[in-house]
Amino acid sequence: MVEKMRKNKLCPKCGSKDLSKERDAIIQSREFFKIISCNKCKFVELYMPDNEEREKKMRNSSIFLWSMVVVGFAIPIIVVVLLI
Ligand SMILES: [Zn+2]
Repeated sequence: MVEKMRKNKLCPKCGSKDLSKERDAIIQSREFFKIISCNKCKFVELYMPDNEEREKKMRNSSIFLWSMVVVGFAIPIIVVVLLI
């Protein structure tokens, strides 16, 4: 039963092979999951991603936030410098 959908590429509900590609799902903008859905009966299975992958994503999003903060500070400073 463990990772049945992911390994067998079969929907455990209806037995269909018509599954969507494995893709990333973000829940409550903090938790990352792997998601596979059946195109026939719309059954969805979620997987916890590997810790390594999860940490990489968390790091990427915090780098993005920091760069936004830096850009947010830098632009007004540059504008002020140019005006003076
Ligand atoms: Zn199905």
